[in-house]
Amino acid sequence: MTVKLTLDDLVTSVATDLMGVTAATLHSASERLLHQLVDYFEVDLSFLRRNDHERGATILVAEWPPREDVPADDPLGVIYFADADPTFAALETLSSVLLVRPAEDNDQYQDRVRQASGIQAVSLATVPLMDKEITSGSLGFIKYGDRAWEPEEINALRAVAALLAQLQARVAAEERLRYLAYHDELTGLATRRALTDHLAERLSSGAGPVPVIFIDVDRLKALNSFLGHAAGDQFLATLAHRLKTASPANHMLARLGGDEFVAVMERAADEAEASRYADTLRRVANEPVQVGGEEISRAISIGLALGEPGQVNVSELMNQADQAMLQAKSRGGNEIAVFTDEMRRQNEIRTDIELHLVTAIRNGSLLLHYQPEVDMFTGEVTGIEALVRWPHPNLGLLPPAAFIEVIETTNLAGELGRWVLETGCRQLREWHRRYPRTTPLGLSVNVTPAELITRDFVSTVAQILRDSGLEGQYLTLEITEKAIVRDTEQALDTLRGLKNIGVRVAIDDFGTGYSSLAQLKSLPVDVLKIDRGFVRDLGVSADDLAIVRSIVGLAGSFGLRIVAEGVETKLAAASLLALGCTRAQGFLYAKPCGAEELGEILAMGGFGGKRMS
Ligand code: C2E
Ligand code: CA
Ligand code: CA
Repeated sequence: MTVKLTLDDLVTSVATDLMGVTAATLHSASERLLHQLVDYFEVDLSFLRRNDHERGATILVAEWPPREDVPADDPLGVIYFADADPTFAALETLSSVLLVRPAEDNDQYQDRVRQASGIQAVSLATVPLMDKEITSGSLGFIKYGDRAWEPEEINALRAVAALLAQLQARVAAEERLRYLAYHDELTGLATRRALTDHLAERLSSGAGPVPVIFIDVDRLKALNSFLGHAAGDQFLATLAHRLKTASPANHMLARLGGDEFVAVMERAADEAEASRYADTLRRVANEPVQVGGEEISRAISIGLALGEPGQVNVSELMNQADQAMLQAKSRGGNEIAVFTDEMRRQNEIRTDIELHLVTAIRNGSLLLHYQPEVDMFTGEVTGIEALVRWPHPNLGLLPPAAFIEVIETTNLAGELGRWVLETGCRQLREWHRRYPRTTPLGLSVNVTPAELITRDFVSTVAQILRDSGLEGQYLTLEITEKAIVRDTEQALDTLRGLKNIGVRVAIDDFGTGYSSLAQLKSLPVDVLKIDRGFVRDLGVSADDLAIVRSIVGLAGSFGLRIVAEGVETKLAAASLLALGCTRAQGFLYAKPCGAEELGEILAMGGFGGKRMS
């Protein structure tokens, strides 16, 4: 025989049971509790109701035992206080325990219960759930016929009601947090988290492709800084509303934060259909918005990616849409770009490169190519530039553009730079021995901005020169103009240090970095290399001619040597010569080639006569 719990033990056990309850388990836990109470107090029915003061109604949360054949429009489900009988109406503001017994005058209440349950006279105990001063719900017990409630029992019921009130408040707070986590406050759209959940579900099963549309407002920063953040917010809220209005009801629209939005079509769709929807979004977004008395219109860039369930995960698909969006932006904005197989290939290449580059540097599988610098009058080789290559096992011979960015973002610049310097200097020493000249050739080596500002850079260079038995004057380090403009102080220190060990410095891609004249004057540099962008169309473009003329003049007045890059045509060569620039690199003379091939050029004594032909 089981011993009946004391009332205190009952309350304790209820408290323990309710501790871990969440919104999801609230209903079943409530039912379980009511069941326990019905058994304990030997009553026939029990119910838990919640007050919704906004609707002015009391709503059934749980009951025990569950009624069979509940009418579709359950008269006990939602009861509006306004048209309730006095007993239910009292639940709105009930603040103390309400006891009703059959003898009393409450016909209307007894009628409603009879209607719903078919039971005749009952007695009732109702305990309010209080949230601060407000009646947040009620806990009720019904016994067919008569039942008296002892004061100790009433006290225990009060304690249980207090626990339930606490639980309801906690679950409501959790629901609110959950709502906030899934709804963007400014726009009311879904959040990144909601989007991620939704996409995860769509991509794990169901029909594909799943169309994801990434939307980015062009130049929103400008709007924020000229009209203030409130205006920016107002613009975003209006935009969100328009996107929503222009979309079928079940499409998902999310704001990722800032000025980034994502739309996911409700059903699978192909590229044509998704593009049409994206275009609708683009058009509504383009219409001007009234913000603080001003009419603002912003272009948007849109990227579209189609995800096959089971083939991509959420972050891959989002990245693809993002990448397509960037593509749209780079085309000047207000465009729609689709993630293509070519972009996919680029991603795979990048991943492969990131994975294998370190090993390639460390086990010496990189390669140097060399391009001669030529005196266009004499055809003589006046210098050699070392250019790195990566013979990749699957991707073929990779040019530096394919992996320099990875180098810079993964801190490998120092390691690569050292290898290039060592290898190039050793090779140059070898050429000096093989092809002795009255004025020995110099070698140019490219240096990344990151390398330039490492502390021990100058001593590393000095050490490598010593090891290869070369004097500093035979080495020129090429630094892009942008690197110098970006980091003047640190860069200046390094440049002075290099000067001290006799190493020369060239400014690479000159004309693209907007260094000021004053800056140029103060820099310890020896050579300017005219960016090939200005050289390519020389003889055709009057603008380029004017630019190159002024660079040549500038170099002359600062006593700098000048080299033209990217000379591909005789016309360009002739134009340069006419402007007084005699040194050049370019496909017209030689493409970058292996050490052996360059040796052959040196053996022949350069390109004598090539210009005359
Ligand atoms: P850069 O220093 O401006 O190098 C010249 C680039 O122009 C080389 O590309 C060369 O192949 C190309 N070129 C030469 N003549 C012509 C021509 O007549 N027409 C055209 N269209 N192109 C010509 P490459 O080898 O692909 O190198 C690209 C860039 O990568 C280099 O530009 C340089 O900034 C960087 N780089 C190359 N090697 C290294 C290296 O060892 N270390 C570092 N940090 N960067 C390097
Ligand atoms: Ca260079
Ligand atoms: Ca260059």
